[in-house]
Amino acid sequence: MTQPCGAILAIGDELAIGQSLDTNTRWIAEQLTARSLHIIEHTTLPDDQHAITDAILRLAQHADFIIITGGLGPTADDLTRHSLAEALSEPLVEDDRALAFLEDIERKRGRSLTPARRSQALRPVSASIIDNPTGTAPGIRAVLTTRARVTHIFCLPGPPREMVPMFEGAVLPALPENPTHAIRTRILRCYGIPEADVATALAGLMRRDRNPLVGTTASNAIISIRIRYEGEPGAADSSLRETERQVRAAIGPYIFGAGDDTLPAVTLGALRAAGDAMLVAESCTGGLTGAMLTEIPGSSDVFLGGWITYANEMKSAHLAVPAADLQSPDIGAVSAHTARNMARAALANAPDASRGFNRIHSIAITGIAGPTGGSDRKPVGTVFIAAATRDNDSGVLTDEVRHFLIAGDREDIRIRSATTAIGMTLHRLRNSSPETLLWQVAPTDRAEARA
Ligand code: AMP
Ligand code: MG
Repeated sequence: MTQPCGAILAIGDELAIGQSLDTNTRWIAEQLTARSLHIIEHTTLPDDQHAITDAILRLAQHADFIIITGGLGPTADDLTRHSLAEALSEPLVEDDRALAFLEDIERKRGRSLTPARRSQALRPVSASIIDNPTGTAPGIRAVLTTRARVTHIFCLPGPPREMVPMFEGAVLPALPENPTHAIRTRILRCYGIPEADVATALAGLMRRDRNPLVGTTASNAIISIRIRYEGEPGAADSSLRETERQVRAAIGPYIFGAGDDTLPAVTLGALRAAGDAMLVAESCTGGLTGAMLTEIPGSSDVFLGGWITYANEMKSAHLAVPAADLQSPDIGAVSAHTARNMARAALANAPDASRGFNRIHSIAITGIAGPTGGSDRKPVGTVFIAAATRDNDSGVLTDEVRHFLIAGDREDIRIRSATTAIGMTLHRLRNSSPETLLWQVAPTDRAEARA
C-alpha cells in the first residue's frame, strides 16, 4: 500500500532572497512527521505567479496534499490565490463569508473596505475559505484532480501567528490518516562529549540501514541524538525504547535530558531536587551564565545570583583575588588559580540565607573570548572554569578547576563557556563528573578543604 505523502510550498520574495527565515516549513514539517505523514518536497518560491502555478501543478503529480504558506496578503505581490486559480483552470470569485468577515474587521476599525483588501475575499470557484481567527487574510482550500491523483491544497497566510492556529484548526483534521505506517522520533540531549566521540561510541547504532535510525546534530556544546523509527505502528514504542537503552548504555553519563529539555532547566531542576542552590562569578561571559539560568521561569528558588567581575579591580574588590596574582606573569586573570579563587570567594560571599540549603555551589569563569588578547601560552578560547561546593552540614568544601580551549569566535566562546559552566555544575550534582569534558585540554584539578 502506498503511503499518503505531502509537499510544502513557502512563498515570498523575502524568503527566496534569504532576507527572512522560512520557519513555517520547519514547523509544518514537524507536524506532518508527528502524524507519520511522508513529505516528498519543501519548495521556496518568490512572489511570481507563474512559478507558483508551475510548482502547484508539478507537486500535484506526486503529492496527496500540498500546504502553501504566504502570498495571501492584500498587496500586488500576494499572488497565491491567482496561481491556485490558474492551476485549477478556474476563475476567481468573491466568497460571501470572507467578504463579510473582511468588512466586519474594517467596520470595527472605523474604515471601509478598500479594493486591495477586498481582493482577499477572492477564491477559485470550486475552492472554499479557511477562517483566520487571529488575522485578516482568509485561507483557501481546494482540490486539484489530475490524471495522476487527487491532491488537496491548503493555502495559509505567511505570518506564523496566523498560520499556526489555521493549520491546527482546519488543515490537520483534514489530512489523511496513516494507520499502517508510523514515524516516531525521540531526541536525547548530551553535554560534555565531542560529536565525533558520540559517533564512535554509537557506531553500530548509527548505521544508515538500521531502524530506528540514529543521527546526531551539535549546537554550541550540546549534542542532540535523534532516534527515528519508521514502520509498523505497533512496534514503534518498543523499538524506540530499545535503541534508547543502547544509546544510554554507550554514553549515559553525558545524557542530561530528552525532547525539549535544556541544560539550564535540567540543572535548575537537579538543584531543586537536591535542596541546593548556586551562585556565579563571571568574567569573560559577562553575566551570560546568569542570563541563561534566569531565562527559565522560577529559577529564583535555586539560583541566588552572582558577580560580574570583568575588570581585574573588580576581581580584587569583590572576589578577594589578590592583585599580585592578577599581575603575576605566571598566574594572571586567566588561570586555574584565579578561577578557583573566584569560585571560593563566591561561596564565602554567599548570603547567610544560603545556609538554609543542603549545599551551595558556585561556578567561576575566566577566559579569553577574543578576537584580541590571546598569546602563545594562552590563545583565544583559553577558558578556566572552577566549580566549588560547600556542604552546609559537614562544612566540607570541594572544588575542581578545568582548563578548556574552546573553539569558535567571540560569541561562540562566550556561549560555549557559559554552557560548559552549567554543564559542569550538572555533572557535579549528578556525581557523574567525567574526567575530561568537551574542549578540555588539561587534567581536572580537584581539591577538598574545610569551609
Ligand atoms: P504574506 O503576506 O501571507 O505573504 O506573509 C507576510 C509575512 O509573513 C512575511 O512578511 C513574513 O514575515 C511572514 N512569513 C511569510 N512566509 C513565512 C515563512 N515561510 N516562515 C516564516 N514567516 C513567514
Ligand atoms: Mg508575502
